[in-house]
Amino acid sequence: MPSHYLNLSTNGKIKVEYVWINVSGQTFQSKTRTLDFEPKTLSDVPMWTCVYDPVKETYLKPVGLYNDPFRLAPHKIVFCETLEKDMNPSFFNSRQRCNEVMEAAKDQHPWFGMEQEYTLLGADKHPLGWPKDGFPAPQVNAEGLAVYQMASGTGTVMGRKISECHYAACLYAGLSIAGTNAEELLSEWEYQIGPVEGIHLGDQVWMSRFLLYRVAEQFDVIVTFNPKIAAGDWSGAGCHCNFSTEKMRQPGGLKVILEACEKLSKAHKEHLAYYDAAQGKDNARRMIGRSTAPPLEECVVGIMNRTASIRVPLMVEQNGCGYLEDRRPAANCDPYLVTEAIVKTVCLGRKL
Ligand code: ADP
Ligand code: MN
Ligand code: MN
Ligand code: MN
Ligand code: MN
Repeated sequence: MPSHYLNLSTNGKIKVEYVWINVSGQTFQSKTRTLDFEPKTLSDVPMWTCVYDPVKETYLKPVGLYNDPFRLAPHKIVFCETLEKDMNPSFFNSRQRCNEVMEAAKDQHPWFGMEQEYTLLGADKHPLGWPKDGFPAPQVNAEGLAVYQMASGTGTVMGRKISECHYAACLYAGLSIAGTNAEELLSEWEYQIGPVEGIHLGDQVWMSRFLLYRVAEQFDVIVTFNPKIAAGDWSGAGCHCNFSTEKMRQPGGLKVILEACEKLSKAHKEHLAYYDAAQGKDNARRMIGRSTAPPLEECVVGIMNRTASIRVPLMVEQNGCGYLEDRRPAANCDPYLVTEAIVKTVCLGRKL
């Protein structure tokens, strides 16, 4: 919005952008409402409703309150879950089941950090900076070095403006964004949300995706979470899930971490159904065991190994405690489903 309008007085009114995951379970809808007061906590924000098909109406129940990085303070963004008339979750609400599982495991204080990868496309749906009629130079050069990952310089990175603006927007909103980096493909990026406890991780990852769509929109750029935009040796896009419980973070935690890896390996097939937007079919395209993607058929646990399915980071091994990294979730996963599955298997010993 031109700054002239951004600076106009709202005569004491507050704009609140209500955001919710739509019926697809993968993208968002949002609409704005004017309030006469500034909501300071979630319970200050009134419920609202929306129509999700010609005849169905659902409640929008506020579950997260953020500063609006587009309209600026005191305006707000409120993230909502969708409830039916009888106050049960709508069929496309995956949050409530996750929340129940997090409640059941709350004594173990599960923390998560998700590494969200994404690719930027021009308005023509072609990856930014890729030649119109082919591919850029291979992502690994003749010396075996990554060309684009964490690179700097014209021609080796594309879209840094968007990554930087998104980073600023997340911090302003109040999200726990841990960092950001250029990824293996030209125009592919990553940011991390975490560590965050329980249900809040899913809320924050979803909100960070909404902010990313909105930032990219200002640059006429499309964001895709497609886990594999080009076949063959080109890298896919993942959403590694770092996970710990209180015991894992305390001295001697490495033993608990290795036990958790074992439990996760045993339930490999079941977990894959929770780890992308197509009950495992998207990951079947991505997990080809090359280009730092984990294999599909088996669950490999590794220390320092960046093609493993589950990795124990080097510093965790050295400190004897910390967290594990489940590298299987795809970029288009539902973070509520991923964290629900991990807690069920590791903390509660429940079948998926
Ligand atoms: P990688 O080395 O795999 O690229 P990153 O640095 O990108 O890892 O991401 C690591 C993520 O793990 C961050 O989001 C960070 O907040 C999160 N994290 C750090 N400590 C913990 C912990 N104890 N439990 C869960 N997540 C954690
Ligand atoms: Mn990372
Ligand atoms: Mn990465
Ligand atoms: Mn990657
Ligand atoms: Mn990782």
